[in-house]
Amino acid sequence: MDLTDEEYIDLISIDIFREYQESTKLPLIKECVQHYYDELSKCYKKDDKATYAYSTLKLFDQTLVKWENNPDYKKITCKKGCSNCCHVAVIIRDSEADLLIELIKKEKIDPKTHRLKKQSKKTDEDFHDLSYKESKCIFLKNHECSIYEYRPLNCRCHNTLDESKYCDVKKYPRRKHQKFLPLEIMVIQRVVQLIEDVGYMSNQLLKRLK
Ligand code: SF4
Repeated sequence: MDLTDEEYIDLISIDIFREYQESTKLPLIKECVQHYYDELSKCYKKDDKATYAYSTLKLFDQTLVKWENNPDYKKITCKKGCSNCCHVAVIIRDSEADLLIELIKKEKIDPKTHRLKKQSKKTDEDFHDLSYKESKCIFLKNHECSIYEYRPLNCRCHNTLDESKYCDVKKYPRRKHQKFLPLEIMVIQRVVQLIEDVGYMSNQLLKRLK
């Protein structure tokens, strides 16, 4: 049964209410979900998804800046050069895939289709079966993201409050680690999926490289 957008907004709000650790009131969460749904729907461009993707990434960055003085933000242990979260199955939006394809063409990036094909056969569950090299994101160079300004929303949400060694999914495949995910960030992450489809980066790119 297809749900209306309003029903989805209710569902997302209840989901976040259950996940959110700081007992924020449900009406406040719903208001936040509705706000970002309105904002993001307004700038959605069906015919120019890459531009839409970039504007949502900027919105995300501006939202995160507001939390930089939060004590928990300061506890994030991610360090430049640690790229453990670039060896996982990253889920991206359709618009982000278009944006990345634009970059691949413009910057003449080798999409390493052989590696993408191997990654496309795996899911979040068994991605760690790939070797270190096979699981490496095609945009990772010398342990740094070569497209940092354009990296997808999900990459922007990867952070940890634990020791960063636990982000190595090969060594610690079942370990769930604590993240800094303030309410608005959680909301944006969920709302964008209401506006467009998502899929694994490998599949999304391969589809467009054919
Ligand atoms: S796009 Fe960049 S940040 Fe995201 S997984 Fe790839 S290298 Fe890492």
